[in-house]
Amino acid sequence: MIQITMPLNFLGTVYREIRQALVDMGEMFGLLDQAPDVTDRPGAKPLAVSEGALRFENVRFGYEAERPILKGISFDVPAGQTVAVVGSSGSGKSTIGRLLFRFYDVQGGAIRIDGQDLRDVTQQSLHEAIGVVPQDTVLFNDTIRYNIAYGRAGATEEEIIEAARAAQIHDFILTLPDGYDTAVGERGLKLSGGEKQRVGIARTLLKNPPVLLLDEATSALDSETERGIQAALARATQGRTAITIAHRLSTIADADLIIVLEAGEIVESGSHDALLAQDGRYAALWRTQQAERV
Ligand code: ADP
Ligand code: MG
Repeated sequence: MIQITMPLNFLGTVYREIRQALVDMGEMFGLLDQAPDVTDRPGAKPLAVSEGALRFENVRFGYEAERPILKGISFDVPAGQTVAVVGSSGSGKSTIGRLLFRFYDVQGGAIRIDGQDLRDVTQQSLHEAIGVVPQDTVLFNDTIRYNIAYGRAGATEEEIIEAARAAQIHDFILTLPDGYDTAVGERGLKLSGGEKQRVGIARTLLKNPPVLLLDEATSALDSETERGIQAALARATQGRTAITIAHRLSTIADADLIIVLEAGEIVESGSHDALLAQDGRYAALWRTQQAERV
């Protein structure tokens, strides 16, 4: 018993410190049973996903009591649609993702999936329903096959290859010295940011979740890599309810709805064209980024 408890306690402590970097490891919560700061309510039921409609209702949240970060955020993501969240650094974009995954509980309002308050459902069922493509995909020191198959236990070779193809990483894997058996990660072959992200997308496609949370890499990618990732993401969001936390506006122009966040409040929302026509905050961000591209 002691032998089991000690490493788990240790892991809990370490985990609290690094969980933001490990945001894609929701499955790990399955092993630990629940997120460190949040517990299942007595009698919590598994989330029942019918269509996968998502709703933020007047959500209020702060990491510290005296400093509100989200100040009453409301929006709907109808089933199968994609909502993009944009805004300057520190505006609260990633916090929206952390609350959806229930790393923390909201302090006011509610987040619902198909009408069910996230606080009323088991965390395991919530984490099974949400696929995360994080800023930095964590690679295990193992083969690239293992790193993709991690998305779903018992996946067949065909399913792994299909996911890799859809994520635009299959052809690259075939160029590696041992193909799918090539060791990657810290002690193996180092992959570029774009390659790691596509491994993350393949992993998520294999998991096949009804809801997708994408936290886009902040770093600039070359345009070929960006096109590859765009194709992979388009594949991943097809037919799924998705929230994209976006830093580069070029990647979200065809989202169903774009929300502009400033200091924890929604200051504008609409389609790309509607927001450009409005000529406000989004249009200004767009012009700045277009100028930076050349
Ligand atoms: P964005 O993704 O838009 O850059 P975040 O949602 O990551 O912004 O952060 C919003 C604000 O919350 C920032 O001011 C950030 O410093 C603060 N913040 C983020 N994580 C924590 C944390 N774990 N503890 C305290 N403050 C945090
Ligand atoms: Mg962020």
